Amino acid sequence: MAGHSRYDADETERRLGVLVRELDLALPLVLRRRRGLDRLSLRVDPARRCILLHAPRHCAFARLADFLVSRRDFLAERVADLPPPRPFAPGGAIPFEGHLRRIRHEPAMARQVVIDDDAILVGGPLAHLASRLARGLRQEAHERLRASVERHAAGLGLTPAGIRVADTVSRWGSCATDGTLRFNWRLVLAPAFVLDYVAAHEVAHLRHPHHGPAFWDEVVRCAVEAKAARCFLRHNGPELFAVGAER
Ligand SMILES: [Zn+2]
Repeated sequence: MAGHSRYDADETERRLGVLVRELDLALPLVLRRRRGLDRLSLRVDPARRCILLHAPRHCAFARLADFLVSRRDFLAERVADLPPPRPFAPGGAIPFEGHLRRIRHEPAMARQVVIDDDAILVGGPLAHLASRLARGLRQEAHERLRASVERHAAGLGLTPAGIRVADTVSRWGSCATDGTLRFNWRLVLAPAFVLDYVAAHEVAHLRHPHHGPAFWDEVVRCAVEAKAARCFLRHNGPELFAVGAER
């Protein structure tokens, strides 16, 4: 990862990880060392579901440990504020297109994922349920995003170079200079109008690589629920990132 120096980090990070468990903080710790940084900062990252510690490049373990201990209660509160994890396991429930659905293992069914009104059926052996479901959701996301992108691109007279779906943590969508649009698969968990808005937003970037008035005029031409969708993502991001999380 960019900016993440491996200088002595493995051993220090491991020892801090032990300390985090001793402090009863239920998330893994990630140490990011940066040259030029002179103070320490700690936060809970709801997208990566980890405790993120930013530190100067050459900072001794003792100073990092003291800082962590001094912020223990603050961190415990932030961890408790996170939505509970929704692992890919039979009997659990996850949102799909904004509606909570129960995960059901169907061993006799073909090795596929079927989205029902209030259940998500996963066929094949139990050992592969989590990976099959993750793959199935990504496929569903890709199909819906492709349909949305094609519709908005046709409406605006634009052609994307391609569509990629991944588990990005910092953005719901992006538009590369070569015309490739990238999206987070978790958009399929949100109500359909949210996914449709993000698709339109990135399509509009094919013409305007900025967020100026001309860009927003283009989004308006797509007739999407921009305001409600932005509001949804601002308030429900942590919920979407809890889906598939083990802790
Ligand atoms: Zn944008």
